[in-house]
Amino acid sequence: MTELDRKQAGVPAPSGWDYAPAPEARDIVQVEERYGIFVGGEWVEPRSGEWYPTISPSSEEPLAEVAQAGPEDVSLAVQAARDAFQNGWSRLPGSERAKYLFRIARVLQERSREFAVLESLNGGKPIRESRDVDLPLAAAHFFYYAGWADKLEYAFPNRKPRPVGVAGQIIPWNFPLLMLAWKIAPALACGNTVVLKPAETTPLTALLFCDVLRQADLPPGVVNIVTGDGSTGAGIVKSDVDKIAFTGSTEVGKAIQRELAGTQTKLTLELGGKAANVIFDDAPLDQAVEGIVNGIYFNQGHVCCAGSRLLVQESVYEDVVRKLKRRMGTLRVGDPLDKNTDIGAINSRQQLEKIRELVETGKEEGAEVYQPPCRLPEKGYWFVPTVFTEVAQSYRIAQEEIFGPVLSVLTFRTPEEAVEKANNTPYGLSAGVWTEKGSRILWMAERLRAGVIWANTYNRFDPGSPFGGYKESGFGREGGRHGLEPYLEFE
Ligand code: NDP
Repeated sequence: MTELDRKQAGVPAPSGWDYAPAPEARDIVQVEERYGIFVGGEWVEPRSGEWYPTISPSSEEPLAEVAQAGPEDVSLAVQAARDAFQNGWSRLPGSERAKYLFRIARVLQERSREFAVLESLNGGKPIRESRDVDLPLAAAHFFYYAGWADKLEYAFPNRKPRPVGVAGQIIPWNFPLLMLAWKIAPALACGNTVVLKPAETTPLTALLFCDVLRQADLPPGVVNIVTGDGSTGAGIVKSDVDKIAFTGSTEVGKAIQRELAGTQTKLTLELGGKAANVIFDDAPLDQAVEGIVNGIYFNQGHVCCAGSRLLVQESVYEDVVRKLKRRMGTLRVGDPLDKNTDIGAINSRQQLEKIRELVETGKEEGAEVYQPPCRLPEKGYWFVPTVFTEVAQSYRIAQEEIFGPVLSVLTFRTPEEAVEKANNTPYGLSAGVWTEKGSRILWMAERLRAGVIWANTYNRFDPGSPFGGYKESGFGREGGRHGLEPYLEFE
């Protein structure tokens, strides 16, 4: 009996039957050998003369070469955006801007399978998620903000809203196309133009999106895409833009804020999180366990609002942990393009190392670790879904954002203690509450210092609902009517 077979025999869940592979076909996606930058509606060779390879994290296979944009490339893109802003886009009636946004939304819907496959290929997330979450939500954001484009006067009555100008937008690798949609849709609806940088490891859907812009006949220069590493992002921050919208780590967010201090450039930051998912003893436990799993193992835990700290009321602790471990045994880890996969590849080697390091500290500090038996593919970056029990609040795994499929479980006795522990973090992006009582949900929601609070569900997103944080999770809101404000100036 191998070590794996031995472990599997001890799992309190049926593991005897396997799913047959159900891979999504890759041939719907055409990846170019090499990409330039998208400036003024054209593909341009980078002035830097530099490229880097982008890979598939599930196989480590190179997919394409992507431009490493330098300062001159960034200037070119910002100038193109400025020209487009001054030469008509900002003066276009809202109803006309809306037409472009509606077109983009419809093209995204039409090409959703192609985008979903590419997203999973380049980022490692399961196709089930890119197909059923990322793509529908990305299209929904464009539809939603298309609806606002000609109603800004009604959204902000008597305040005479007008566009800010050129927006520099820097996005992370966990939801590449969705973060692009969160940034570009409101900016364009308000009459701004854009220079966007996707994350270094996940540029391909942003580059495919340039094709959608052409299909939608968007005027040249309204959206410009430059690829590259952190230095390209820093170049955008230093450039002559009127607004920066950033989603990523708290560390880089702070550096950007320092850089922009004392300037006129507007700024919104959507940063890290260490959300509490709070389970009361009257919660429907089976549903709560599904919510816990969705809260932390969705997108490999690469989610800023992930429910990475589970707070369980002591009287149901044993039950919850037993049910959770059983459910973890049924999660399938593997090929992101397989339709049965629940947990795909970790986005990069660097991120995998960070997860490993933090998990080691959890063991060293004295927490008890559980990982279900799991056969991982030989190539690529993988991490087994993990839960820590016996966690003290001071442990690094209870304090720091791991950004991986790793859950830390703590307990509480009273609602007051739950609130105190939930708020005991430098972050304040999201939280979850599981209870049968509506009054308790409201009581908790009033006291939790988090931008988004889910009740009896987790990780639900809607373009009409504002999203953003408190404290070190950043400031400004994306989504909803609130999401228009950072892209507008008022009299
Ligand atoms: P970063 O904050 O470094 O990356 C976010 C984006 O900012 C990327 O496009 C990145 O480019 C760019 N960037 C990096 N440095 C700078 C800079 N100095 N100025 C302007 N832009 C910059 O996150 P990482 O990818 O390095 O991830 C590190 C950790 O951050 C993760 O382990 C996770 O804990 C957290 N994180 C949180 C996210 C969230 O949504 N809250 C999202 C991503 C990460 P490039 O890709 O080239 O580095």
